[in-house]
Amino acid sequence: MQEFPITRAETLKPKPDPKTLVFGKTFTDHMFLMNYETGKGWHNGRIVPYAPLCLEPSAMVFHYAQEVFEGMKAYRSPEGGVQLFRPMDNVRRMNESCERMCIPKLPEETALEGIKALVRLESDWVPSESGTSLYIRPFIIATDPSVGVHASHTYLFCVICCPVGAYYKEGLNPVRIYVENEDVRAVKGGTGYTKCGGNYAASIRASARAEEQGYAQVLWLDGVHRKYIEEVGSMNVMFKLDGEVITPELTGSVLPGITRRSCLELLRDWGITVHERLISAEELFAAAQAGRLEEAWGTGTAAVVSPIGEMGWKDLHVGISGGKIGGLTQKLYDTLTGIQWGTEPDPYGWTVKL
Ligand SMILES: *Cc1c(COP(=O)(O)O)cnc(C)c1O
Repeated sequence: MQEFPITRAETLKPKPDPKTLVFGKTFTDHMFLMNYETGKGWHNGRIVPYAPLCLEPSAMVFHYAQEVFEGMKAYRSPEGGVQLFRPMDNVRRMNESCERMCIPKLPEETALEGIKALVRLESDWVPSESGTSLYIRPFIIATDPSVGVHASHTYLFCVICCPVGAYYKEGLNPVRIYVENEDVRAVKGGTGYTKCGGNYAASIRASARAEEQGYAQVLWLDGVHRKYIEEVGSMNVMFKLDGEVITPELTGSVLPGITRRSCLELLRDWGITVHERLISAEELFAAAQAGRLEEAWGTGTAAVVSPIGEMGWKDLHVGISGGKIGGLTQKLYDTLTGIQWGTEPDPYGWTVKL
């Protein structure tokens, strides 16, 4: 266990009511910081009170978006302990994102130890009501005061945490999604496989349009052919078609989700045939109209598994599994959440106790 210096907050904030928690608005008392400087490398890992950062207006992150982030959760187990889910996968993926964005890679063990030290200090903030968790947001920003376009020489790694309520307060209600024909989220050769803020900035307009029309999420098509399904909102997407599961392959414009990987590993373990391949909107809607699309769901850390009940594309509208959650979707949700919250055994060694 690595030790980091801790500066404690003088006063601690009151904990919010776990029943009325809103996603991502309440932050805990402390944060983890670590600096990078050319010649010095990553150094000065420390825990300090959660507070505004002081940056020059010319800091590079504000202008050219040299930035990456991650999203993960800490869960309260029935015995009262706190555990993380595949946290090293997040750290490794963050480094993949860094490589694409010309940000120096983090020392993986130090980064993970920093996250663990922070969550350990903030463990009173991990709520215990059913379905609640502590969301962890590690991110790196370029801090050079310069508006010249080049890689920064200084960076800040920061980890903040916020308690989050149950994603599904009224059960797993399937959502309506809409195929976006105009905007694209990512293209091959771009940054689609990284978690970088720029991808999200470019996705907000389509999401806002979908919401205006009463849809919960956008179904993204690939940016080159405008033909193949890539993701749903900020989740990976899976379809059960003729008893087999199909998910878009990782072509470079699809984010390699840890929930996606976990679902694929579970499905294969259950003896279900899984295909990672291109699937066009045309093929998908034709299968749905022929009654062959049995289930559809999104996967991601926030929702875990999110059933899709209806899909729209131009003038076409198709319902899926009678607008109810499908059996396989439910089994994935129950198994994954059981492992994450420690109410089920973890034969895969995915959880890390603090
Ligand atoms: C984070 C993210 C996902 C889901 O990844 P998980 O590791 O499962 O949380 C999917 N798509 C996009 C675009 C994402 O940013």
